[in-house]
Amino acid sequence: MSTAASTSRTGSLVIAVDGTSGSGKSSTSRGVAERLGLRYLDTGAMFRAMTWWLLREGIDVRDEAAVAAAAGRPTIESGTDPLAPTIVVDGTDVSVAIRSDEVNAAVSPVSAVPEVRGRLLDLQREAIGEGGIVVEGRDIGSVVWPQAEVKVYLSADPDARAQRRTAEQGGTDVASTQQSLLERDRIDSGRATAPLTMAEGAVHVDSTHLTLAEVIDRIVALATGAERA
Ligand code: C5P
Repeated sequence: MSTAASTSRTGSLVIAVDGTSGSGKSSTSRGVAERLGLRYLDTGAMFRAMTWWLLREGIDVRDEAAVAAAAGRPTIESGTDPLAPTIVVDGTDVSVAIRSDEVNAAVSPVSAVPEVRGRLLDLQREAIGEGGIVVEGRDIGSVVWPQAEVKVYLSADPDARAQRRTAEQGGTDVASTQQSLLERDRIDSGRATAPLTMAEGAVHVDSTHLTLAEVIDRIVALATGAERA
């Protein structure tokens, strides 16, 4: 295949990376996007941004009707450069604020509300546009972009996930990190609308015993194969 053909096909490629909390989706997706010269969309950041905004507005995040009524109000903009992704809500950059314990605890119940999902689904599809992007989340291969050329379901053992996430955050309490990850998995997998699931046609990659570079290599190889298909 010529380089020109390869470049043009990579230009419209969509790679969907779904999986459990803390399975390494973000580092992996950013690495793959960087290697292939693609954009990167963190849909989890969009749900976190919505949650951050609801908390700031003083809306009770456990009140489904109140959350549903407010879901259309904030503007949410995602920057898709894999080297410097951004997330802006009503003009405020919330890249750091959306990683707080308060948002961690509230994001899964908020994400289970259909009006929240519907609103963000529109924004996600708009951001994907003509493709050329790696998109990470929970329902990308199943609901947001089922036609993605490459679908990956990334998982890792809970111990490995909790240890990685705790180290990333510079903390020491692996047990409470693990509890928080598993609680999000439980809600994300059990919700009625667009639950976390392995999409049809997805390749399961268990990263427990793989390095980040090995996982990235694996997905780049899948993408290169998809290009040739
Ligand atoms: O990926 P991240 O852990 O930042 O996602 C935070 C939360 O956002 C998830 O636990 C889930 O509740 C929600 N989410 C979702 N669908 C997506 C991405 C994230 O419901 N596509």
